[in-house]
Amino acid sequence: MEVAVVGGGIAGLFAAYYLEKEGASVTLFEKGEPGGDSIHAAGILEPENFYRINNLDYLRRAWRYWRNDSSAFHNVDRRWLFRYFRTMGREPDRAGWTHLRAMAEESTRAYNALAEARNDFELRMGGLEEVYESAKAFRAAVRANESKYPPVPFEVKERKGLAGVIYFPKMGWLHTELFVRRILSEMPRVRIERKAVRSLSADGTLDAGGGPRRFDAVVASTGVAARRIGLPLTAVKGYGWHAIARERKDIAVIYADRGIAAVPLGPRAGTPSEAGRHLKVTGGWDFDLTERTTHAEAILSRARELAGLDQVLDFRSGQRPCSPDGLPIVSRSGNVVAVAGGFRLGWSYAPGMGREGALLALGKKQNDPFLSRYSNHLRAGPWSLL
Ligand SMILES: Cc1cc2nc3c(=O)[nH]c(=O)nc-3n(C[C@H](O)[C@H](O)[C@H](O)COP(=O)(O)OP(=O)(O)OC[C@H]3O[C@@H](n4cnc5c(N)ncnc54)[C@H](O)[C@@H]3O)c2cc1C
Repeated sequence: MEVAVVGGGIAGLFAAYYLEKEGASVTLFEKGEPGGDSIHAAGILEPENFYRINNLDYLRRAWRYWRNDSSAFHNVDRRWLFRYFRTMGREPDRAGWTHLRAMAEESTRAYNALAEARNDFELRMGGLEEVYESAKAFRAAVRANESKYPPVPFEVKERKGLAGVIYFPKMGWLHTELFVRRILSEMPRVRIERKAVRSLSADGTLDAGGGPRRFDAVVASTGVAARRIGLPLTAVKGYGWHAIARERKDIAVIYADRGIAAVPLGPRAGTPSEAGRHLKVTGGWDFDLTERTTHAEAILSRARELAGLDQVLDFRSGQRPCSPDGLPIVSRSGNVVAVAGGFRLGWSYAPGMGREGALLALGKKQNDPFLSRYSNHLRAGPWSLL
């Protein structure tokens, strides 16, 4: 079977990986660098810590982030906003949660299996700490974790100078750049065409310049640009830096009052960094579909203080593709399968999303009612993707 994957972010890379494993002949179209729009991420893996946003807890957090300048609201997809308020309070049903959990388990299994064969991407399932300065926010987070369904194991810790720490023992992290290199080496038969796909039709015909080409199925994993095929998505922009910290860290930390993450990585050549002083630091929760990155400086200045940064090495910005409830979308319509909406946990869910998309494309699965909840929004096509 001839299958095209349009968009080689982390979701599309996993879709291509599973398609090849299932024996399909795969062409991956990517307009930039494969993985290049996903590598800004911190690389924290918490696939079972589902992050719903259509509830009061999230609205309160968004309000706090806006008040303390950790997020900004500039340009939001209006269709997304309408759907957001319409889905307020709505949860997946039991069957939906069961399916999401199975996808999360697949994600954990896939990352672990790749690392067991060769851990050349610094996977460390060493736990995650969420630290709180604000007592009110800490109490709210403990309550939210106690009532979370599906439940997520966590422990509460005291720490001098902080309101409290929530420790998640089952979570971990990886080095995003090294992982992209590794996953590309795991799919030697996938043909990669570094081209932008201009248009796509529901029957599986696409045009990447040079005229129409027909595929048996197409996986559209174009991130926030999946709005163009009609999905209600908006961009929540964020920023990522490699940096050298003053002190060694040995665990991934989220500074929860500001939504800033710091992840310890191995030594980086050419810098004065031993293991644990080289960090990936991320932050910024900007509802903004534009390319502007002016807010990044303010986020970095706060990150410097919180994570104790000595030297900043590089910078990238990226977009979290956000559905109205913050949960992923994997849905087939005609011969096109949309795989999008990873939002804050796009890396965490990517193996599960990619596998689900691959099986739908190959006709080995049917649409799941929850994951395909926005399929009636998929337009009939042909779609202009640029
Ligand atoms: C600051 C920050 C920190 C984050 N930290 C974490 C984390 O710690 N853990 C976690 O799980 N998640 C994290 N995320 C979320 C995660 O990075 C995203 O959810 C994920 O990158 C989305 O992946 P994607 O493949 O769906 O989309 P993208 O990465 O946006 O990829 C889409 C790809 O499609 C390509 N494309 C688009 N249109 C076309 C076209 N017409 N033709 C060809 N190619 C096209 C683009 O070039 C791009 O490469 C973070 C996000 C941000 C912003």
